[in-house]
Amino acid sequence: MENLKKEGKQTGLAVVLVGDDSASKVYVSNKEKACEQLGIYSEKYTLPENTTEEELLSLIHKLNDDKKIDGILVQLPLPNHLDDKVIIDNIRPDKDVDAFHPVNVGKIMIGDFDFVPCTPAGIMELIKESGVPVEGKECVVIGRSNIVGKPMSMLLLHQNGTVTICHSRTKNLSDVTKKADILVAAVGIPKFVTADMVKPGAVVIDVGMDRDEDGKLCGDVDFSSVEPVAGAITPVPGGVGPMTIAMLMRNTVTASKNHKQII
Ligand code: NAP
Repeated sequence: MENLKKEGKQTGLAVVLVGDDSASKVYVSNKEKACEQLGIYSEKYTLPENTTEEELLSLIHKLNDDKKIDGILVQLPLPNHLDDKVIIDNIRPDKDVDAFHPVNVGKIMIGDFDFVPCTPAGIMELIKESGVPVEGKECVVIGRSNIVGKPMSMLLLHQNGTVTICHSRTKNLSDVTKKADILVAAVGIPKFVTADMVKPGAVVIDVGMDRDEDGKLCGDVDFSSVEPVAGAITPVPGGVGPMTIAMLMRNTVTASKNHKQII
């Protein structure tokens, strides 16, 4: 960052929020705070729920051409009348710091990428910093969404893990999860992974951001029952979530460096 500033290049992120989703508002405000802490210039666009596709695309095209802006993030989910795919396809791939554009998704598949979706990237950092080896390990990912499950599986594969992806049609799920040395839960169901689904000593990574029966934030893993069985486990809150924001900042700085062509 300091080097970029010395080069006279201020890194810039634009965050676009459409509608009134309360969780999205919290995510966007956390991203703004992270920008402030790091000295990243940020612009926030809060658009009403009834924004048309044409209006949103017009903003994205303006940001695509704006030299102050290195990264563009459109907070998902969008209101139902807007098509996520159309919107993402219109973000310039070199400014797509969420790495959801098909060009960036393809690059992740090949293993030659600038940006990695922030949540899987954060999980890989957690794994690396914890000294957990991936090579040759049985890695099981529960969930196959485009934003978490699929890219997560590719990143583990690139690190030479033996990867199994599970989903809602997987039969005998616990037979599969019990083989995992590294188990990633990205299901969206509160406390879905229970102790009987986990191999003793396994590394358990909880991506879930769910609400329990009392409306309290919890993960996809039943932390209290799984923690004694697991070798290591991430909590919710305070595990994967903060890493996601850190990786968004990293992707934004990468975009800025690429625009400055100083890498
Ligand atoms: P998603 O798009 O709803 O995908 C959920 C996946 O779980 C799907 O692939 C689904 O299978 C699978 N699934 C559902 N029920 C299942 C079952 N009974 N058995 C096995 N698999 C099942 O969710 P997502 O966007 O990936 O998010 C997952 C969770 O992570 C959510 O709690 C979300 O809030 C959280 N999240 C957290 C962060 C963060 O920064 N911490 C970031 C993103 C998401 P099918 O494909 O067959 O339907």
